[in-house]
Amino acid sequence: MRYISTRGNAPALNFEDVLLAGLASDGGLYVPENLPRFTQEEIASWAGLPYHELAFRVMRPFVEGSISDTDFKQILEETYGTFAHSAIAPLRQLNANEWVMELFHGPTLAFKDFALQLLGRLLDHILLKRDERVVIIGATSGDTGSAAIEGCRRCENVDIFILHPHQRVSEVQRRQMTTILGENIHNIAIEGNFDDCQEMVKASFADQSFLKGTRLVAVNSINWARIMAQIVYYFHAALQLGAPARSVAFSVPTGNFGDIFAGYLARNMGLPVSQLVVATNRNDILHRFMSGNQYFKETLHASLSPSMDIMVSSNFERLLFDLHGRNGVALAELMSTFKATGKLSVEEDRWVEARKLFDSLAVSDEDTCATIADVFKRTGEVLDPHTAIGVKAARECRRNLSTPMVVLGTAHPVKFPDAVEKAGIGKALELPAHLSDLFQREERCTVLPNAIEAVQAFVAQHGNRGKPL
Ligand SMILES: *Cc1c(COP(=O)(O)O)cnc(C)c1O
Repeated sequence: MRYISTRGNAPALNFEDVLLAGLASDGGLYVPENLPRFTQEEIASWAGLPYHELAFRVMRPFVEGSISDTDFKQILEETYGTFAHSAIAPLRQLNANEWVMELFHGPTLAFKDFALQLLGRLLDHILLKRDERVVIIGATSGDTGSAAIEGCRRCENVDIFILHPHQRVSEVQRRQMTTILGENIHNIAIEGNFDDCQEMVKASFADQSFLKGTRLVAVNSINWARIMAQIVYYFHAALQLGAPARSVAFSVPTGNFGDIFAGYLARNMGLPVSQLVVATNRNDILHRFMSGNQYFKETLHASLSPSMDIMVSSNFERLLFDLHGRNGVALAELMSTFKATGKLSVEEDRWVEARKLFDSLAVSDEDTCATIADVFKRTGEVLDPHTAIGVKAARECRRNLSTPMVVLGTAHPVKFPDAVEKAGIGKALELPAHLSDLFQREERCTVLPNAIEAVQAFVAQHGNRGKPL
């Protein structure tokens, strides 16, 4: 499989290189040159497969030529062997024809484990084969950091540095990062906010001279492998609900348009997905596009669903590329307009095309809490605030009551106790068994000033399993 840039002016890469790449050299994002397409018979024959075997069938075309079938099968079995629920992504029914797909049974209790547990193992496999070392630098406001650290903790040839804003992440989230100890794991608390952290990561990608030739790898959702891994669970859920004979709709709590883009790809690969609901919080740039063809930056607001607090959705460019007939030149132009003006809209017929599949809703904190309370009252289930936004949007946007609606349950509620409490749920939530001693574990973290020189000097000093690069 070859991968091309959405801006049409960077070299095509194979899977190995796309795994190790960040942005393409022309500023675009990598996408498969040709998306695989499965027949209905093929998809039907996968019904009932264990998760890792389904994952092998769905993802095999993407890694073909870079990883052998035997190795890939083993990697997948190990990856999903770390999940606490044997169904990996179980469906829980909330209402008539309405389900939550629980994507929070991985080690860090959010859906990001599906991709990052795999990414770590893929990196390990490829780097050992190439006898190469890499450095990962990532910024997190919560879920990504712990999932990336958990995913890479056993990688022999990776040193990972995760920047989080000092004293601005919840204690559970901080401890999920800082209690994972290892000579290749480096938590850095920056005396600044999340944007400061993200800016430092961006600047480090732009000028990598401080790394003395060591390659820098991205773990945010611009990395193609993350999107790829997320395609699988759309197939998994739909097959359980009668696909491909029956269509299925999905509602996806989204920020960077990564998770929902995977659903869009699943559909283009042959899965009968009749509707995709974009569910956002008040940071609603995606909703503004879907509802009115207006994609523009606004001030960032802190919400009860912090993992979706974004101003711009990094993966949206991948959808725009398809909407423009995969014309890289047109996309480069559109994105440079966006860079200059902070806004964009597309030609009417392209927007109408998108709207055939996508609907959207922006959900307030108030409605998020009301949804958590309502679901708890009717079913006894406690939703996390992100998932609650997905449920609310599903209910408002649903086109067809006889089509099963699957809401992506993106995090375990124990990660977001504030929202659960605000929703008036008196029940104390317990950490799952594998994290029950989280508050007793030793933490390791370095506090650094809000200055890129300090961060880059720290990386250079510790980037080779704790030793200088
Ligand atoms: C990251 C995250 C999201 C948003 O995912 P995107 O791929 O950025 O759309 C939603 N919910 C939770 C709990 C998350 O951690």
